[in-house]
Amino acid sequence: MQTIGILGGMSAASTQIYYRKLCELVRQRLGGLHSPELLIRSLDFANIEHLQASGKWDDAATILNAEAKALARGGADFIVLATNTMHKLADQMMSGVTIPLLHIADATAARILKAGLKAPGLMATAFTMEQSFYLDRLRAAQLQPVIPDAADRAVVHRIIYEELCQDIINPDSRSVYEDVAQRIAGKGADCMILGCTEVGMLLNKDNVSVPVFDTTLIHCEAAIDKALGV
Ligand code: GLU
Repeated sequence: MQTIGILGGMSAASTQIYYRKLCELVRQRLGGLHSPELLIRSLDFANIEHLQASGKWDDAATILNAEAKALARGGADFIVLATNTMHKLADQMMSGVTIPLLHIADATAARILKAGLKAPGLMATAFTMEQSFYLDRLRAAQLQPVIPDAADRAVVHRIIYEELCQDIINPDSRSVYEDVAQRIAGKGADCMILGCTEVGMLLNKDNVSVPVFDTTLIHCEAAIDKALGV
């Protein structure tokens, strides 16, 4: 089994979901006492969020690059960057890193295509919903992403940082998210990408009317496939 290097803490709330899911998947697949070989580097998200909000992306990239190199030195066979948003910096992060990155958008796009769907709605941070680094990656995979309107993007973004990344689960916010998902489906989305690693704390296949693709769960499944050589 290969060793998965997780670069997480963005936020700590979702890195905990990764750890639990990765353990569960290996237990299901190998049984008994099996568990994944992992290196988890969990950053202080307050620092990272400050750099995001102040537009200091190059400084954030320098941190991620140093951490990716440390994971490689520590014996990781490949890297899982446990946040969609920070994939904005994927190229800079991987500069000079000798092990590969398992890209969260590629893993998600592959699953959507396999399901025969093509117009995914996207609920994520404003960075992910509005900037080209993620949307273009989906379009390159022949998908046609559908994003919420400006007011909905703002509320989805706010709830991620003010609640979900702080491990706060609010039933009112769940209703808000359900309504946003419904409006995106109404705009023609044939499925929904939970494109932020915390959005699965509020949405899942049971409260969204179109098929759901949770990037956290898909990323974990792809990581275990790769680690086990499936
Ligand atoms: N975990 C989030 C994501 O998947 C948001 C936090 C961050 O900005 O990294 O985009």
